[in-house]
Amino acid sequence: MSNEGIEGTERFLSPGRGQGLRAVRHFAVGELVFSCPAYTYVLTVNERGAHCEHCFTRKEDLFKCGKCKQAHYCNVDCQRGDWPMHKLECVAMCSYGENWCPSETVRLVARIITKQRVTTERTPSERLLLFKEFESHLDKMDDEKQEMNQVDILSLHHFYSKHINDLPGDQALTELFAQVNCNGFTIEDEELSHLGSAVFPDVALMNHSCSPNVIVTYKGTAAEVRAVKEIDPGEEIFNSYIDLLYPTEDRRERLLDSYFFLCECTECSTKSKDNAKMETKKLSSPPEPKEIQSMVSYAKNVIEEFRRAKHYKTPSELLEMCELSLEKMGAIFADTNVYMLHMMYQAMGVCLYMQDWDSAMSYGEKIIQPYSVHYPAYSLNVASIYLKLGRLYLGLEKKTQGVKALKKALSIMEVAHGKDHHYVAEVKREITEQK
Ligand SMILES: [Zn+2]
Ligand SMILES: [Zn+2]
Ligand SMILES: [Zn+2]
Repeated sequence: MSNEGIEGTERFLSPGRGQGLRAVRHFAVGELVFSCPAYTYVLTVNERGAHCEHCFTRKEDLFKCGKCKQAHYCNVDCQRGDWPMHKLECVAMCSYGENWCPSETVRLVARIITKQRVTTERTPSERLLLFKEFESHLDKMDDEKQEMNQVDILSLHHFYSKHINDLPGDQALTELFAQVNCNGFTIEDEELSHLGSAVFPDVALMNHSCSPNVIVTYKGTAAEVRAVKEIDPGEEIFNSYIDLLYPTEDRRERLLDSYFFLCECTECSTKSKDNAKMETKKLSSPPEPKEIQSMVSYAKNVIEEFRRAKHYKTPSELLEMCELSLEKMGAIFADTNVYMLHMMYQAMGVCLYMQDWDSAMSYGEKIIQPYSVHYPAYSLNVASIYLKLGRLYLGLEKKTQGVKALKKALSIMEVAHGKDHHYVAEVKREITEQK
């Protein structure tokens, strides 16, 4: 394939940001800027059986791989298409049984190595940026990151060396894992449930802004980039790499830690939303700055503790953690404070998992309004809460509220996912079924 570029855009050197993507024509809100097939991808283990391993279609009557009984497919074509990648895991999963547990990153890297060996030309996912050009930021990695990188390399050897001849040397693997860590994508569904991991070189070319002018969504295993603001010719096209709920300091910390740059976007310079995001309770005597600071540290600790606790605590223990922290933070923070919202969102997730629909609904109702204020106008986070709420309402026979919430979700999704996306069609069907 020749280097045809992407119509309406060009790769350029963005001052202070390295390579970037800019528009050479106007893009209207909701317009598809480009779509990009995955260079490689992998379905997450938890979604096996619910999605086709090859095309990520979600349906009920998938059939199993006869050998491992783990991978599921739409049909023989999908199974055949997936074999070059699935064969890296099929036999190993049988022989290791429950001990087969490489991380998703390791699984993705095994596929990248295989893909690189059979690929001699520029792939359709690399019209502007080649996988080989990915930055690794190896020089900026601290000891902890280097150690994690070594663990991944050992795991790759352990689970894949029988099926990939001559794995690259340590130095090359260190670089490859580092490249994937700062350029990889996670694929999510319309409710933002994690479906898998993938590499999309052209999508990775876009730099970050906390006030992005495009959103990335997924159609099967392909990424689609749509404008969520008017983009004029000459303007840089910015995607967001992170969850935009949090205040400037937190976002900058996260970007520096994971992507090794200090964000100087308009939102980070004006900090226009920070006050609302850090809102404190209206009390007769307002809390001292010191009290607020110590509550912020508490909140950050709880968030981190909860993230780890998810792997070993029971749902009711997790819910208790949420409730306790909300009670404690609620003495100083308003209900619209992002740290409160973070824990409410976690609580909603646990309630959904426990099928406690009423509690999930009441958390959702508390979250949705402040979410709409804190996030940009078109946000997948906001759309996904409207969707979850709408579906909860309908399940609880609250028709009017359900339809109203789904319509809110739809108005965002028609821009972010595009009017012809199958997720949009599904939501429309759920609405008409109520009539
Ligand atoms: Zn399929
Ligand atoms: Zn198999
Ligand atoms: Zn920023």
